[in-house]
Amino acid sequence: MQTFQIILKHGKEQSLKRFHPWIFSGAIKHLPAGVEEGDLVEVLDAARNFLAMGHYQIGSIAVRIVSFVKENIDETFWTRKIENAYRLRKEAGLAGSCTTNAYRLIHGEGDGIPGLIIDMYAGTAVMQMHTVAMYRLRETFCNALCRVMGDVLVAVYDKSEGTLPFKAGLNPENGFIFGKSTGLVALENDLKFKTDLEKGQKTGFFVDQRENRALVERYSNGRSVLNMFCYTGGFSFYALRGKAALVHSVDSSERAIELTRENVALNYPDDSRHEAFASDAFRFMEHAAGKYDMIILDPPAFAKHLNVLQNALKGYRRLNSKAFDIIKPGGILFTFSCSQVVSREMFRTAIFSAAAHSGRNVRILHQLEQPADHPVSIYHPEGEYLKGLAMYVE
Ligand code: SAH
Repeated sequence: MQTFQIILKHGKEQSLKRFHPWIFSGAIKHLPAGVEEGDLVEVLDAARNFLAMGHYQIGSIAVRIVSFVKENIDETFWTRKIENAYRLRKEAGLAGSCTTNAYRLIHGEGDGIPGLIIDMYAGTAVMQMHTVAMYRLRETFCNALCRVMGDVLVAVYDKSEGTLPFKAGLNPENGFIFGKSTGLVALENDLKFKTDLEKGQKTGFFVDQRENRALVERYSNGRSVLNMFCYTGGFSFYALRGKAALVHSVDSSERAIELTRENVALNYPDDSRHEAFASDAFRFMEHAAGKYDMIILDPPAFAKHLNVLQNALKGYRRLNSKAFDIIKPGGILFTFSCSQVVSREMFRTAIFSAAAHSGRNVRILHQLEQPADHPVSIYHPEGEYLKGLAMYVE
C-alpha cells in the first residue's frame, strides 16, 4: 500500500515533538495528491524531516498518529499493540480475573490505537471504530485478537454503525465478524449483568465506572439510594450488595429501565428494596426532597464539543443544585461528568457553585476518575474524560 507524505507548515511540528497524537488541518502545508480518508501517511516538518506516521482523515483533526518512528505499519505492528494492551489489563488485575470479565481492552490513544475502542464482555470483544482507517483494519484487529487472546476469545462483534463519520459513506452494519455469542452475561466484581450488543448504548455497558461503583457499595450500608441516570443499573446492584435500605434507579429510557430490572433480578431476585422508574431526572427530583441520603448523578456527556461548553457547565450546576437541595443531612452525593471538554477544574467549579447556591456544608471525600483499563497517554490529556466527586453533605 502506498504511503503518502504530508508536509507541515513551519513551526507546526512542536506538538508532535511532544508526542501529541493529533495534527489539525490548519497545520498542514501540503497535502499529497490522491490521499484519501483512512490512508497511511508520513508526516514531515517544513524542512522535510520525518516526524511521525499516522492515518489521514477529513475534518479538523487531519492526522491521527500511530507511530513516532519510521516502521512497517502492518499486522505485526497492530498485533504488538494489542499484546501490549492485553498485558496491561492483566497487570491491572482485569484480564484473567475470576470476578471481573468486563473491561476495556483498547482505549484509543491511551493504547496507541487512535480511533479504536474494544471492550471485553465474558470473552466477547466489542469493537467500535471511530475512523475510516480503523474500519478498514477491522479484519487485521480481529486476527490480532485471535492470535493474542487464543481460547479466551469467544467472539468479535463490530459495533461501528453509529460511530463512523457519516460522510465517508461506508454504511457499516453491526454484527459478529468472528464467532458468535448470545445472551451475554458478564461479571463485574462478582456481580452479573446482561450486555445487549444490538441495542445497548456504547459497547453495551459502561465499564468505566467499575471502581466508583465499588466505592458506592462501601458507603451504602443502611442508606436510601437514588441512582439517577442508571442506564443498566450498574450502581444499583452494588448499592444493594452494600446493604442499602432501598435503591431507586431512574433513567429517561424505558429500555434502560427494563435492563436495570433484569440486572437487579439476576443478582437480587425479588428484592423489594429496589424499584426502577422511567422518568426525566429533573421531573423525578421535583418530588424527591428529603427522601434520599445517597444520590448518584452520572448523566450523559453534556458537552461533546467546545462550543457548547458554557451550556454544559450550566447543566452540571443546575443538576447538582437540585441534588444538594433534596439530599438528606448526612447524605453522600456521587457526581460525575464524562464530557471530555469539561476539565476536572471546570467541573469542580460548577459543583462548587451548586453547593454554594444550596448553602449546605459540603466536604469532598473522594476525587474520582476512570480506571486503569482506560489509560491516559501523558502526551494526550484529552484522553482523560471521566471525573467525579464523592461529597458529604451536612
Ligand atoms: N450510570 C450509568 C451510565 C449512565 S449513561 C452506568 O453506570 O452504567 C447516561 C444515561 O442517562 C442514559 O442511560 C440515558 O438514557 C440517561 N438520560 C439521558 N437524559 C436523561 C434525563 N433527562 N433524565 C434521566 N435520564 C436521562
